[in-house]
Amino acid sequence: MQEAILEALSKVIDPELRIPLTELDMIGAISITPAGIADVEIKLTITGCPAARRIESESKQAVESVAGVSSANIRLTVMTPAERDALKAKLRGGKPLKHNPFDKDTLTNIFLIGSGKGGVGKSTITANLAVCLAAQGLRVGLIDADIYGFSIPGQLGIKDKPTRVDELILPPVAFGVKVISIGMFIEGNTPVAWRGPMLHRAIEQFLSDVFWADLDILLVDLPPGTGDIAITLGQLLPTAKTIVVTTPQISASEVAERSGAVGLQTGQAIFGVIENMSYLETGGTRIELFGSGGGELVAKHLSELSGTAVPLLGQIPMSIPLREGSDTGNPLLGQVGNDLAAEAIEQIAQTIAGVGRNLAGRRLPLSTS
Ligand code: ADP
Repeated sequence: MQEAILEALSKVIDPELRIPLTELDMIGAISITPAGIADVEIKLTITGCPAARRIESESKQAVESVAGVSSANIRLTVMTPAERDALKAKLRGGKPLKHNPFDKDTLTNIFLIGSGKGGVGKSTITANLAVCLAAQGLRVGLIDADIYGFSIPGQLGIKDKPTRVDELILPPVAFGVKVISIGMFIEGNTPVAWRGPMLHRAIEQFLSDVFWADLDILLVDLPPGTGDIAITLGQLLPTAKTIVVTTPQISASEVAERSGAVGLQTGQAIFGVIENMSYLETGGTRIELFGSGGGELVAKHLSELSGTAVPLLGQIPMSIPLREGSDTGNPLLGQVGNDLAAEAIEQIAQTIAGVGRNLAGRRLPLSTS
């Protein structure tokens, strides 16, 4: 019976860590009376764990589904410091504390999404790409590094703060995406007036203290422009590739190119250019509100600058549902229905997903024959 209960509990996933409770060693004592009343102790990682109620109800349901159990009493307790240390060591997978898991040996495909100026839809596209990639079953992380203009939590409807297990930070999960943002660490709408070293430290923490587990894709929403953060991230994420978001306006292309060029300076390849707000389609006609050709031009110039072909990954039209989804924390790519912008974003997500695991720099096993 104990085994059957454990088997049932192995289907209950910790909502923050996204790992079955049984693998997290969260199950304590189990007893069962002859009348079939089960008493199960679940050891939470910390007191006041925000996911406690959900874990409790899902565990109760799981235990009560076991044949022979008439009802289940779930007792929530908290791990001892020693148990918590053991769990943290397990989560780090033998890696030392303060280890950046996205160094040159990472298998995660990392994309830095930047733009020359604000308001071009960089965050909207990043959030929707992340949701779309996660919906395909990929393990996706999203860092909102737009320190001064963070908007990702709002776009994905995240109100939770990350849970801390001592120095380990568990990122909230929305639409299947693990998300971390500076907005989660400041109160209300306090302006962030940080300078270089503090920003550097915050970004480092986002990489090394957050429990990302094994990700297929990490998207990073950069602040607009060519500042400190892009350089810091470039150094900390040596395998990252840059994506530049721009509008069709030719006059905006130069500033967009400069943002792509920063990545080149820190050694990142440019993955491609996304043109947003390309046109508005109404009644079968396309209106080019912001002109045309900006995306092509940025791609052309970045190709010349980098010496490799930089593609235009897609052109995303103006879309009221896209804007509304972002405003209400319910991203368009998490909804069903037809929309030209959603289709364009989906296509770009396909290109990103097509890259496969990052095997660049890996040594192939030598054949002995
Ligand atoms: P950035 O991150 O570049 O500063 P945002 O993603 O915050 O820009 O977008 C700025 C505004 O434009 C937001 O209100 C967003 O909803 C809206 N927006 C972005 N892309 C589109 C689009 N293709 N159609 C309609 N509105 C858009």
